[in-house]
Amino acid sequence: MRARRSLIDLDDLSANELTYMLSRAAEFEEDDPGHLLAGVGTVNLFFEQSTRTFTSFNLAQLRLGAHVVNLAPGDLSLATKGETIEDTALTLAAMGVGVLVVRHPEAGFTQRVARAFDGHVINAGDGAHAHPTQALLDLRTLRDEFGSLQGRTVVFVGDIVHSRVAHSTINGLRRLGANVVLVGPESFLPESYAQMGVSIERDFDAILPQADAVILLRIQRERFSSMPITDAQYVAEYQLNAARLQRIGPGAIVMHPGPYNRGMELDDTVLEFAGWRYAQQVRNGVFVRMAVLDFLVNGPAVALGA
Ligand code: ASP
Repeated sequence: MRARRSLIDLDDLSANELTYMLSRAAEFEEDDPGHLLAGVGTVNLFFEQSTRTFTSFNLAQLRLGAHVVNLAPGDLSLATKGETIEDTALTLAAMGVGVLVVRHPEAGFTQRVARAFDGHVINAGDGAHAHPTQALLDLRTLRDEFGSLQGRTVVFVGDIVHSRVAHSTINGLRRLGANVVLVGPESFLPESYAQMGVSIERDFDAILPQADAVILLRIQRERFSSMPITDAQYVAEYQLNAARLQRIGPGAIVMHPGPYNRGMELDDTVLEFAGWRYAQQVRNGVFVRMAVLDFLVNGPAVALGA
């Protein structure tokens, strides 16, 4: 196994590595690459619920021929017997586990695992911090649609501050030259976000006609104690619905990392909209995760410049 690299956020990838990963995912979609991870031990440690990320990591590992063990938090000695996560990491490495995929409600937790684990760690979401493989699948989906993202306008709507998806995907979009516009109430979108080189808008209706893509976000109720505005107010100002779909430009698409909440950030008409790309995002999740696993364990298949 090569130098043990981990993927905690997109900043762990150089510009060339980022674009390589997106092309590699497209290659894997075209042609099944076979068992590039034959016999590699992978363990999925999910301390938070997950449907899409968990299943697609499993499928990606199985398609690449890896050995897969899924550990639920309740199964771990960590839970009740006083073991630390560092001890768990050491134990799994001693068994020959090569890759840990970790999701946890605390920001920084996967970084902590990566420091202790003699192998590769992939962040499958840590609190409100980062979700790099979701960012890669979002970028892959946007590339499927538009090719280059240079100069394209991507609008995120909703609970930006608590969204690890927004944090990682904004980073990737900026690096690929897209214009990023954030829309939401002050409590979910502080003015300080403007320092990230993005535009801040409070009026969803006004910005809609300019969007090439709209990324809706779920309100992350598990990450705060009381909802800062009423649900009704949120729906009135930020829900994508039939009336707002009328304002969207031709060729624009709508995305959502899932799980989506009907009646909150979207209504049922969005699910029928021709530009709704949720299924494509989920599908890309498998190929992107195959690409990440292959890259970390085997390195790039072609020489990448600095
Ligand atoms: N599935 C995404 C995440 O894990 C988005 C969400 O839960 O709203 O962050």
